[in-house]
Amino acid sequence: MRADGTFIAVEVDDTAASDPELARKLSEACPVDIFAANGKLEIVEKNLDECVLCRLCLDATPAGTVKVMKLYDEGSIL
Ligand code: SF4
Repeated sequence: MRADGTFIAVEVDDTAASDPELARKLSEACPVDIFAANGKLEIVEKNLDECVLCRLCLDATPAGTVKVMKLYDEGSIL
């Protein structure tokens, strides 16, 4: 799954996104509530551009599960 804001896009591996435990971890990790867990993962599009590039979502999940892309920097990956 992927969602795009104006400045930031977030992509989460589809298999991982359906894992309730991973959804919970992401919803707890992100300080600006970009992830919500309702049994499965949701990306909260209205919060995407609040991303502070803290990498906590990357640290909370296996490598490659989450990608944070800087659309203002030609889509470079955090
Ligand atoms: S880098 Fe930080 S602010 Fe951005 S989505 Fe990940 S946890 Fe949230």
